[in-house]
Amino acid sequence: MLRWLQDYPHFLEWAYRLTHHLFIWLDPLMRRIGYGRVDRWLRPLEEAGKRSVFDCQMCGQCVLHSTGMTCPMTCPKNLRNGPCGGVRANGHCEVIPEMKCIWVAAYERSQKMPIFGPEMILLQPPVNRQLEGSSAWVNMLTGADRQTPLGWIKKD
Ligand code: SF4
Repeated sequence: MLRWLQDYPHFLEWAYRLTHHLFIWLDPLMRRIGYGRVDRWLRPLEEAGKRSVFDCQMCGQCVLHSTGMTCPMTCPKNLRNGPCGGVRANGHCEVIPEMKCIWVAAYERSQKMPIFGPEMILLQPPVNRQLEGSSAWVNMLTGADRQTPLGWIKKD
């Protein structure tokens, strides 16, 4: 059932958009409560929900909607900008041969996503390991997930 949801991701992108709007709406309240406290409350919820559907690794910097609702951190090499050069001819992973390359799955799913599918071509910044284990929802509100390392220049 959960894999089916990912393979037909339109519902998930719709749910993402709804959740995103909800958090933006709740942001003033969360700021008053304190992001640190909200992070402690939301983290278990986020982990339980996203781990069961996406095998979320709690990187704290969620890019799911830009990667075909496929978690890039489930790639054995944690690649966030497309596949390595080792994808097998059958589209499987060179590290775990029985697993489909997550970037093959991400591309296929993105083709079924009218809202966020085109974001597949966006360049993702290097993952900030200091955010690991924190709530990506809260990091989205604080902007911590958009901070890039010194010297990293995004070219569109
Ligand atoms: S991108 Fe990060 S936060 Fe999003 S599902 Fe993957 S590990 Fe979890």
